[in-house]
Amino acid sequence: MARLPRFDVLFEPVKIGPVTAPNRFYCVPHASGMTNTMPRMRAALRGMKAEGGWGVVCSGYVSVHPTADDSPLPYATLWDDNDIRSHAMMTDAVHAHGALAGIELWHGGGSVSNKTSRLPPLSPSGISWMATHVGFMGNQRSKAMDKADIRNLLRWQAEAARKAKRAGFDIVYVYAGMGYLPYEFMLPEWNRRSDEYGGSVANRVRIVRELLEATRDAVGDTCAVALRISLEELRARRSERAASEAHEVVELLADVPDLWDVKMDSSPSDCAPSRFTPEGSHEPVIGFVKRITNKPVVGVGRFTSPDTMVSQIKRGVLDLIGAARPSIADPFLPRKINEGREQDIRECIGCNICISSWHDSVPVRCTQNPTIGEEWRRDWHPERFQAPGTESAVLVVGGGPAGLECALTLGRRGYRVSLAEAGEHFGGRLRFETSLPGLATWGRVLDWRLGQLRRLDNVTLYAGNKLSADDVLGLEHQRIVIATGARWTRQLYSTLELPVGSLDAPNVFTPDDIAAGARIESPIVVFDYDNYYMGGALAELLARAGSRVTYVTPAGHASAWTIMTNEQPQVHRALATAGVGLKTLSLVAEFRDDALRVTNLFTGEAQSLPCKSLIIVGARAVEDALYRSLLQRRADWEPAGIVSVDCIGDALAPGAIAHAVHSAHRYARELDQPAGSGIYRRDSAILESAPVLYDEGQGVNAP
Ligand code: ADP
Ligand code: SF4
Repeated sequence: MARLPRFDVLFEPVKIGPVTAPNRFYCVPHASGMTNTMPRMRAALRGMKAEGGWGVVCSGYVSVHPTADDSPLPYATLWDDNDIRSHAMMTDAVHAHGALAGIELWHGGGSVSNKTSRLPPLSPSGISWMATHVGFMGNQRSKAMDKADIRNLLRWQAEAARKAKRAGFDIVYVYAGMGYLPYEFMLPEWNRRSDEYGGSVANRVRIVRELLEATRDAVGDTCAVALRISLEELRARRSERAASEAHEVVELLADVPDLWDVKMDSSPSDCAPSRFTPEGSHEPVIGFVKRITNKPVVGVGRFTSPDTMVSQIKRGVLDLIGAARPSIADPFLPRKINEGREQDIRECIGCNICISSWHDSVPVRCTQNPTIGEEWRRDWHPERFQAPGTESAVLVVGGGPAGLECALTLGRRGYRVSLAEAGEHFGGRLRFETSLPGLATWGRVLDWRLGQLRRLDNVTLYAGNKLSADDVLGLEHQRIVIATGARWTRQLYSTLELPVGSLDAPNVFTPDDIAAGARIESPIVVFDYDNYYMGGALAELLARAGSRVTYVTPAGHASAWTIMTNEQPQVHRALATAGVGLKTLSLVAEFRDDALRVTNLFTGEAQSLPCKSLIIVGARAVEDALYRSLLQRRADWEPAGIVSVDCIGDALAPGAIAHAVHSAHRYARELDQPAGSGIYRRDSAILESAPVLYDEGQGVNAP
């Protein structure tokens, strides 16, 4: 198929300084959770995006010097020759598909604690970030930079830029965003200097200009020099010379960089979850930049619709369509548009599981794309599948995320597949969960898979088919996959932080009961120790429907784990606006006579809450009765022609949707693979040169 003419504009080349991007699809710098100890995984991930048609593919954040040490978070380094080799693997992989490679050089300033290098962090005025997220907290404060530190910073940037060029990069960044060092110079709360680097906007932006010039002097003959800058705070500040301080900064630096990469200031607004923020949310902040500069502008906004992309270009908002999450969810997004297959795009759902991976310091994971991060170590290509190892027909039981993913991947491999679902509709847990406040976009997990499955001749879908062991044994399939999901339990939570003793009293409910339409009376208490979205979203749903709701949790925050997905601040705001009462650090002790007794997790102090209905959102238990009864009837398998019975997804081990999808994909990929082919390859750092001495004064590479 050919692409639609209205999308032609997306495939125009764009000149960026001395280099030219082959099209307008620009994969902006984003964390992959892969440090320099995983160079092959990193190269394969970035190379896959180039293969998928992104015209520019950037690295994640890359430290220029050991004073920028973000450990234990997974940051990359460009400090020595080993690091050059490590990154060269990525540029080779990207260039192999005709794309440009960009590198985001980074200094963390007073936002990092240098936990490994143990060097004093550097900041404009000795002020450090006082994080509320425990994952970012540290006890090491920063040192105010003197003139020698500023000279060093410029030298480290220039040295790193030269190394970047040797590693084969085409676009080299100065990163003035997200609380990191050059950003700290731009905001007066961080920058209280009285020298030429503090005070007026022109002074506060001086370091950014000097970093850009140092980069250009080092590599500007052949590499483009990009500026990545956060404009949200600056945009909110009044300026006497321009419409805002952001306008003034862009005017001062207008044509200094070859490319403007513009973004928001903090991860929750920059990488905003779909639950609270729509596609294209950056535009009101960054939309003005293109009117001031003549240089190309790239920005993001969780763009997955080609029509929205075209609109961004035609309306003069952006020149290049930036993407992090949409390129994770579908590395082949540009190619699909180019081939007239835009309906095949696996759209990002904005759940931010990918962000949680970075917070967890592990390689990136994605709810929609189970192959991300697995390109090298498991050899999983998002669009190519190994032919079946046998003629087996496969029966998949259960049409939730796991069953759908398993059937689709097996179908794409070429197996004959039947997918049976007990309910009248496919989707499993998604059926109810997508009706929770803000979660409609998650329906893309179901819609995309169902749409793809319906186009496969070798897959048959059977809704409204609840299968028993006898049914399965009579269906003449050789491989049986059980994806029957999990159920919420009425388990309580102990001071040992474990689920214990079930509260099977009247008027005690689980989310499954609510999904099934149970009538529940107000006042309601939602007791949540699952800590992800379900408890908070249910409390919000019921309060908005008119019930009096108190949310109780042993954790310190509502939906405590959602700090990992950038959702927690908005969860608290949503609960407050819906009128939900909040009680943290509390356990359920007793429920009777329309009252719930809760005790403080640490002091044991008791309190009574009015409660007619208690909803426990805690542990989930596998729904594997069918699997177990089939295992008990192993003697009947051979006469029925059954070779294997396996369990996947939530029925195997309850988790987030991302876990179920990955589990299902793995089963489908590994079916009929030779025994002993291993689980995955382990990556390792490239260590070809002798140990390097890092010298604080001289920088790196001193022998
Ligand atoms: P997962 O996240 O692992 O996909 P879900 O709970 O979302 O799990 O989906 C499990 C699906 O399996 C549900 O839609 C449920 O109706 C279906 N199911 C459960 N038992 C059977 C059965 N015996 N036959 C067919 N479908 C079943
Ligand atoms: Fe999008 Fe969620 Fe995948 Fe991240 S994990 S890319 S937000 S679908």
